[in-house]
Amino acid sequence: MEIGVLRRDGRTDPFFDGTARDRLVIRRCAACDRWFAPDQAGCPECGAGELEWAEAAGTATLVTWTVTHGRPAADGTAPPPAFLALVELTEGPWLHARLDGIDPAALREGLPLRARFRHPGAGESYVLFGPEG
Ligand SMILES: [Zn+2]
Repeated sequence: MEIGVLRRDGRTDPFFDGTARDRLVIRRCAACDRWFAPDQAGCPECGAGELEWAEAAGTATLVTWTVTHGRPAADGTAPPPAFLALVELTEGPWLHARLDGIDPAALREGLPLRARFRHPGAGESYVLFGPEG
């Protein structure tokens, strides 16, 4: 499955500056030391209005996943299935991301994962998660 060309929207610039450098940069509340997904605005824990951007470790565990099968091409060949996952970062936030290099038989809740970065020719770099190690 193709992800399509990603374009930054201004609010997410630090996230994409991070993926361009193989860094997972997400939101962190300096006031209460909690971490949040990149699209979080304001801290729901302590009410702080401003969240800083901070680099996460890039490690996560698998929460849940789904397999999507793309539409076959005109010649009948089917694209490889894509694994779309919800992962829990070591810092706590949950992210939606594709899995990469995964053995479907090895998929289980709690599977250790590590961020991997892709740098397409067009559009922004993005993050996938593959097996730890
Ligand atoms: Zn807070």
